[in-house]
Amino acid sequence: METLILKVGDPYKDDISQACKILKNGGLVAFPTETVYGLGALAFMPGAVRKIFAVKGRPADNPLIVHVSSLEQFEEVCYVDERYWPVIKKITPGPVTFVFRKRPHVPNEVTGGLNTVGVRFPAHPIAQRLALCAGPIAAPSANLSGKPSPTTFESVYEDLNGKIECIIDGGESAFGIESTIVDLTGETPLVLRPGPITIEELEELFGKVNVFNPEETSRPLSPGMKYRHYAPDKPLKLVNSEELANFANTDILVLCTEESKEKFLKNARNVLTIGSLKRPYTIAQNLYKSLRYVDKSPYSSAVIEKLPEYGIFFSIMNRIKKAVRGEKK
Ligand code: AMP
Ligand code: MG
Repeated sequence: METLILKVGDPYKDDISQACKILKNGGLVAFPTETVYGLGALAFMPGAVRKIFAVKGRPADNPLIVHVSSLEQFEEVCYVDERYWPVIKKITPGPVTFVFRKRPHVPNEVTGGLNTVGVRFPAHPIAQRLALCAGPIAAPSANLSGKPSPTTFESVYEDLNGKIECIIDGGESAFGIESTIVDLTGETPLVLRPGPITIEELEELFGKVNVFNPEETSRPLSPGMKYRHYAPDKPLKLVNSEELANFANTDILVLCTEESKEKFLKNARNVLTIGSLKRPYTIAQNLYKSLRYVDKSPYSSAVIEKLPEYGIFFSIMNRIKKAVRGEKK
């Protein structure tokens, strides 16, 4: 299949009507969002949604997030619990997904058979314009299943060129890790996946929140959490910063902060810096690009520096730990 590449310079103005038409005709479009690139189909077209699973090699019980362009569209997809409107209005549009009971017309293909649905109102102008023109868009990340999510056009192209109808090139994703997911179907908000909106910020907004920890719960794993994510094919190990010096000039690639390179690996060649501790959001933005580089690099394996676990670092470490575990299907 020939993939149409739409390069968008001005996300507010450039013509994206071809992408909109492709979606309406049941095709797949990869599009930029502020978290990572999404692989979209119209949420109310089950046949198109099924193609997402086929192209990605994604298990059918791993649900997709529905992307909407307004709070009106938000309500077309799910039953919003009235108590949460003030908070939702405060933090949307943005890098956060809410799980609510689904409306009956949302196809099972989207929700992996669940009676709940994840809904997100993204802040990225291209994502908003697409959903405004075409309708709610079901989209997981635009990578092949098991690979790190794509945060650049090049990564999407690498995985999906020739397999889908259209890729919109909108430059690099601002946040670089997937949205925070908050389940609002229970008594207390439950964070299913930490992300750009931090636990601390959620506590401020909601009061109390619970954080789902797969290692400490008897609750069955939310679909999607049991699958292999974010992992390079080569072995990847987590190491404390003090141990990094041991890896200088070996055939192991070291992914570390600028501070640790300066301190422990000053003249080493085998280092890829992932950003400065002083600018943690930049580390989030660089993470998946760096993990993808591991497989492309001439090195046989890699180590990655252990980071703190508060604020946005907590979300970054969540992804790093998954990459290190290389969670199997
Ligand atoms: P991705 O966009 O690839 O990060 O995948 C979307 C993720 O959202 C899934 O893997 C699930 O973890 C989560 N998700 C989507 N819908 C639901 C839902 N109804 N309940 C729980 N988790 C969900
Ligand atoms: Mg994904």
